Amino acid sequence: MPSNRNKQNAFYYFMLDWRKQEEKKGCVFNNMKEVQSDPKLNQAWRNLTSNEKLIYKEKERNCKLKQNLNKKTNLGESVDELLQIQIREKDFHNRMKEYISSIIKEAKRNNSVYTLKFYVIHVNYYCMYNCESPYNYSPAEIALVEFSLGKGVMRSYQKIINSEIKKGYAYEVNIHSNSSHQIPREPDFGEKNYGQIFKEICQFVRSNKENERLPPLFTLFNVEQIKNSVMSVINLLANFDQECNDNFDVYSFEELFVNLYNNLKAESDNAIDEVIVSLQIKKDPFNYKTSLCCDFHKIGCGGNFCSKSIVQRWIFVLFSYVCSLLKINLIPGYHMPIENLDFNDGQELNRSFAALNIFGDTRNYRLPSNWNSNNTTKSPSERTYRDEEVRKSQSKPLIIYQGSFKHGSTKHSISSHEQSYPLSVEDFQSDRSVGIHIPENKFSSIGRGVTLKRYIQKNNL
Ligand SMILES: [Zn+2]
Repeated sequence: MPSNRNKQNAFYYFMLDWRKQEEKKGCVFNNMKEVQSDPKLNQAWRNLTSNEKLIYKEKERNCKLKQNLNKKTNLGESVDELLQIQIREKDFHNRMKEYISSIIKEAKRNNSVYTLKFYVIHVNYYCMYNCESPYNYSPAEIALVEFSLGKGVMRSYQKIINSEIKKGYAYEVNIHSNSSHQIPREPDFGEKNYGQIFKEICQFVRSNKENERLPPLFTLFNVEQIKNSVMSVINLLANFDQECNDNFDVYSFEELFVNLYNNLKAESDNAIDEVIVSLQIKKDPFNYKTSLCCDFHKIGCGGNFCSKSIVQRWIFVLFSYVCSLLKINLIPGYHMPIENLDFNDGQELNRSFAALNIFGDTRNYRLPSNWNSNNTTKSPSERTYRDEEVRKSQSKPLIIYQGSFKHGSTKHSISSHEQSYPLSVEDFQSDRSVGIHIPENKFSSIGRGVTLKRYIQKNNL
């Protein structure tokens, strides 16, 4: 007789059937104990063929599966469901890593990493609903930026969204909005049509559609709230576009950053990982740059929380690490904020880049040599008359790249190194070369950014 009589094993299921058969014949059992102690039961079990026993073993297996399915954690979540989610997430991460690594390695083989286009996304929301729905974020602003290492930040798409807020959430909306993006509840100027926004986003990336598939969108994965809000809002918008059967994969910006750096670095250099990348992005050294904001945030408060500004700030941190590995010079307005020209001789920029320095030296960024010299690192009030004279004597003709870069004609480059930019002149001249040459006699040195700005505005340059 099988030992574990009290467990729901194969013998237990046989015993239930045997009892029914015996009761049909007129036998009476008051309880299962009486059934178990009947010697005919054991004999009947021994007489079963292996095929007949297999039926009861199958019942035992199904019972065990069912028991696992019903197991709960101390939070009341199904253990089986959690295991399934874990498997799905692992598959997703493997697929994502494989995709990112393969496109970068392929581009490296073809010497075309600097032309690879990527899309980075951030979403601001009014509130998060307390529900199990996958669409539990109510979107307030969405921004998408296209960049390549060679050309820097190329294009952007941004929308303030007028989302209808569910009843009972007005307080949460006010609290969240006032402490972050400052977008008012249900703004008149916001876009209401979710389907239209999704169409426009598809249109924005259409030029880079790979094999009829939409390219992935990158966002911060190590900040749960950012990752979850982006995934939720993208799915929500896609749901409202009835004509589109396609959807975006949302991938990790940190993973992209790590892969780009580690694949392009010299063998002797230290590799970086996602923890380092997260720490660098968290420093947010360019968060004082108002020109990165959308029109709404440029004139209002909450500029640091502007989605358009946030994605560019992430990308600029990436540029400060990766561009120098390809000898790509950092161009204001494309690889770093344009306002740098307004600051006293780049001191502010020096501080921003210094904040990112993880290796204890300056090899990961390039600054103009005069920005690092003794006399120019002093603020105007700190300079002596002699400092000022020396500074002026060292001044060079200045070209302002207002949103462009003209290779080959650079008299004052943002880098102190020789130009080694791998793109052809035509790459820039074809679609964006609108470099402005400021006459030398108008300005005494590079430290006159504010005057320069006025000159540009006055002359409509
Ligand atoms: Zn904004």
